[in-house]
Amino acid sequence: MTDLAQLSITEASQKLAAKEISAVELAHSCIAAIEKKDPSLHAYLEVFADVAEQAEAADRRRAGGENHPLLGIPLGLKDNILIEGRRAGAASKILEGYVATYDSTIVKKLKETGAVFLGRTNMDEFAHGSSTENSAYGPTKNPHDTSRVPGGSSGGSAAAVAAHMTLGAFGTDTGGSIREPASFCGIVGLKPTYGAVSRSGLIAMGSSLDQAGPLAKTVADAELLFGAIRGEDPLDSTSVGKTFYHAHATSKKIGVPWELFKTGVDKDVMENFSAVLKKLEAEGYETVDIELPSAGLALAVYYIVMPAEVSSNLARFDGVRYGLSQKGATQWEDYAKTRGEGFGAEARRRIILGTYVLSSGYYDSYYGKATAARAQLTREVAEVLKGVDAIVMPTTPTPASRLGEKTADPISMYLLDIFTVTANLTGNPAISVPMGTVVREGKDLPVGIQFISAHGDENTLFAIGKAVE
Ligand code: GLN
Repeated sequence: MTDLAQLSITEASQKLAAKEISAVELAHSCIAAIEKKDPSLHAYLEVFADVAEQAEAADRRRAGGENHPLLGIPLGLKDNILIEGRRAGAASKILEGYVATYDSTIVKKLKETGAVFLGRTNMDEFAHGSSTENSAYGPTKNPHDTSRVPGGSSGGSAAAVAAHMTLGAFGTDTGGSIREPASFCGIVGLKPTYGAVSRSGLIAMGSSLDQAGPLAKTVADAELLFGAIRGEDPLDSTSVGKTFYHAHATSKKIGVPWELFKTGVDKDVMENFSAVLKKLEAEGYETVDIELPSAGLALAVYYIVMPAEVSSNLARFDGVRYGLSQKGATQWEDYAKTRGEGFGAEARRRIILGTYVLSSGYYDSYYGKATAARAQLTREVAEVLKGVDAIVMPTTPTPASRLGEKTADPISMYLLDIFTVTANLTGNPAISVPMGTVVREGKDLPVGIQFISAHGDENTLFAIGKAVE
């Protein structure tokens, strides 16, 4: 029999529907792949002990006449997505021992479809990072070159999909954390429109930026996974309903902000990028030069807005309510000890930065200005998208870095986010699709191309993504 774990979701789904394979067989082949490859990749923090039982239940549901495309499909979930009764920790020591008391809305929806949860995937602690090296449990390795990072923060999910240790996975994206690892691992990653997917039951990073979304082997799989989790939710007042979605744009024009790439995109990445644009032109798309004057500010704006929201979201980890709890002589000391020991260096850095930019003396010079620049950027993107179906950029300026290459210099790590943060600041949907490989030290390293479309217009991203494939 072919190795079932290698299948796309769409292929496996057809085979399940035709009763050529069972969910149990599919789950077994993923588990076998995990046992073989995960010791060297470390994509999973936990593989659930009851995967076989979940798959049996899915097979029973199918025998009873149910036929959702995700029924019996094995999936990985990033460690910041709550599943009732299971551990969740955002790869942080401060959540050591925490067991979720409720299902996130996306998990509730996935349970209805009958998808099988394989386990919790590794991530940067609290999703802070672009490499998955900030996990308190050690880094994940890139399946294309284990001396390199898989990208972050959803690096465990991306590596698991790329190495066929699951058929698909979910991650979260606050400034690029789905698209970056998708780019570095050679798979598809979608950051949905802000509000398209409920944030209820996700461990928050930056609440005005966070969106959960799929990491998948193909655009069609990403579309299927997105369809299963999207929708308005009374538990998230920022979520939006179906009426919000449009049919996809049809001008077949794609805007290229050439000016932006002068900031230093790797030469080989740029070559792949131009080759894909040519391919799209051959498919009937027209590429036009566009300007986004404020996009050069996006990174600076993000690294003010994001830590501000991080510092406030992480305030709840006080040693009283969740996870780790260290005792001192006073309650103040309890907090200090718990937070000092529980948070890693990057989380502490962001808390300090965030409280600083929000402090009364500096609010106007930093947070206030950043908010104004964010509004300006949002207007510019909206204006450009009146004339084109999508904006295109490389997902990342470089291919995957070597493990340890950027950890000593946080700013060099932050620079990787230069092209991804815009869509989070403006709330637009964005997809990363593989655009070939570049050679580094004799290894083929994948790189991704990113498309950004109008709010609620994920369909355009799927259409263009399929044209690139
Ligand atoms: N790399 C970005 C950061 O470090 C984005 C992280 C994310 O999207 N969760 O903040």
